[in-house]
Amino acid sequence: MSGPRILVIEDDDVTRSAVAGNLAAHDYDVDEAADAAGGLLAWDAERPDLILLDLGLPDRDGLSVIRHVRREAATPILVLSARGQEADKIGALEAGADDYVTKPFGIGEVRARVAALLRRAGQATGDPAGILRNGSIMLDPSRRVVTVRGEELALTPREYELLKQILAAPGRVLTHGRLLRAVWGTAYGKEGHYLHVYVSRLRRKLEQADPDGDARDVVAAEPGVGYRVRESAPD
Ligand code: CA
Repeated sequence: MSGPRILVIEDDDVTRSAVAGNLAAHDYDVDEAADAAGGLLAWDAERPDLILLDLGLPDRDGLSVIRHVRREAATPILVLSARGQEADKIGALEAGADDYVTKPFGIGEVRARVAALLRRAGQATGDPAGILRNGSIMLDPSRRVVTVRGEELALTPREYELLKQILAAPGRVLTHGRLLRAVWGTAYGKEGHYLHVYVSRLRRKLEQADPDGDARDVVAAEPGVGYRVRESAPD
């Protein structure tokens, strides 16, 4: 018996050994690589269940590792990134990474993120009718109907589209650019103030529909990057 296989790609020996050792002690089956080339070889040979990836590698940019893996598989990728490098985090998420932790990180936080990503990857891909749920919120795309606690919620078309993007990404970080392009179209990407206004309005409507619950907390700002969607909680 062995646990999920995790590939740790990180050139800093101290960080890599600490992370790999801790994960191995928690019954993960861990492979290590100290550069992008070694990481891609291990990826090809082992097909791990999850990749922990440092973006600043000595031979190639970590982003190229993300793109390579994404051409072949949806394997969860958790990025280890330096504090203050918001542009790097955004680039990694847009290239297909699933989440990130900021250095210096606590190993407990890394393990929690790893467990959440593996749980999500193992879940069925969703309701056959395409119905999206998170807590008390339900969105039925075939009827374009949203309910909160079973009561229909009136939304504008943009608010509806925004909520749909949010509900389709439980536990993930959605960058400002990705949401803007999805809801307003490809010409957008920098108009962060639109998004801020719409998210505030949407959260207010959710709160009005569910004053004693936590529907409004379905999404929270991730400063400088975008919005984090909470994991779908059963209502
Ligand atoms: Ca590094």
